Amino acid sequence: SHLRSTDIRTDNSPLQIFVKAKKKINDIFVEIEDYVQDTVGFMKSLQAERNIVTAEEGERVESYVDKVHAIRDVLKRDHMKVAFFGRTSNGKSTVINAMLRDKILPSGIGHTTNCFLQVEGSDNGESYLITEGSTEKQPVQSVGQLGHALCKEKLCESHLVRIFWPKEKCLLLRDDVVFVDSPGVDVTPNLDEWIDKHCLDADVFVLVANAESTLMVTEKNFFHKVSTKLSKPNIFILNNRWDASASEPEFFEQLVKEQKEVRAQHQERAVDFLSRELKVYTPKDAEERVFFVSAKETLQARMQEQRGQPSHNGALAEGFQTRYFEFQDFERKFEECISKSAVKTKFEQHSQRGKHIATEIRQTLDEILDRTQKMKSEQLHVKKEVHDKLNYTEQQLMLLTQEMKDKIHHMVEDVEQRVSKALSE
Ligand code: GDP
Repeated sequence: SHLRSTDIRTDNSPLQIFVKAKKKINDIFVEIEDYVQDTVGFMKSLQAERNIVTAEEGERVESYVDKVHAIRDVLKRDHMKVAFFGRTSNGKSTVINAMLRDKILPSGIGHTTNCFLQVEGSDNGESYLITEGSTEKQPVQSVGQLGHALCKEKLCESHLVRIFWPKEKCLLLRDDVVFVDSPGVDVTPNLDEWIDKHCLDADVFVLVANAESTLMVTEKNFFHKVSTKLSKPNIFILNNRWDASASEPEFFEQLVKEQKEVRAQHQERAVDFLSRELKVYTPKDAEERVFFVSAKETLQARMQEQRGQPSHNGALAEGFQTRYFEFQDFERKFEECISKSAVKTKFEQHSQRGKHIATEIRQTLDEILDRTQKMKSEQLHVKKEVHDKLNYTEQQLMLLTQEMKDKIHHMVEDVEQRVSKALSE
């Protein structure tokens, strides 16, 4: 039912850029596969019959079948990947849950994420997890159980646990977005290993910062490392827990003023970090990547909405609506960014390879066509001699028959004359 309530959003979601591109490129590869199969069949018949095609050419074209298959396999698994980073307890898991509109990841005290958690869509309504190095599906029925399962596993900090959650429960999962939650960057991590293992194929990075404090060196360092390995990574900064600064509404005017100042300061530092330090955006573009939100409120509101209740139950923290809108604004910009980036990084390669295969096959076929045309003209040459001979024979025959006809004609006339003569006598 919650899908129905968000259906209106479905078709104009920027994620559809990726979804549609994926469908289109897949259709194209189905056609390429047909085309390759046809070519293989055609070449086999030529090889068998007339030796027009060399064995090497046959093998080359046949090898494209496997190549196209491999691309189609990768294509099936292509997704949009977003990775969340930040210090422990800044609210990474809560942000992911808010975006998924459900409490999927355990969060809060005692549920420190101590390894990488990846949430992705599953078919057939199944929910389960798979730990690294295993293929065993461990069923997951609830968050509590998930938290328990994660605790009992001896998990290394850079290990990955994949959580599969029913696609139909969340539009983002249905549209092939994959979420990666990380251990806090303050957990003395081996950043290089983290980045190599989990970040190189990420389309978007979200830094979940704490609006109650400033960006920490550990948080900044992580992104400095990322930007040495990836050229121009897409980074969003969420200043989370923005609600916490609105807890004393008695001095309302004073509070609004203070909040404005705090916000301006955070904003300036974040923009400076993205533009001047990391050099991934211009200051103007960087402005569009910094948001002030409350993941906790957003999650609560969305869970209320899903139960068919209003998004808040009266006891509303000051500024809730604004923060909720800002979270939605973040999601919109995030969706645009991730789908464009994923189309570019993932499908550009496939379409290059597809083009390459098509060109190679055409070249091979052109060569064969060239060869057959030469053979044909050679045969025509040979035929011409025969043809001339035939022509001569034919002409001779015609002449002969004509002669015969004339002779018979004369004979008949002669006979007739004789007969009529005999009769009159
Ligand atoms: P993580 O370690 O970064 O994944 O952080 P969690 O998502 O587990 O959040 C840590 C604690 O902060 C939990 O108790 C959350 O309920 C709380 N929290 C998360 N986001 C917010 C927020 O926006 N506002 C407030 N007040 N608390 C939050």
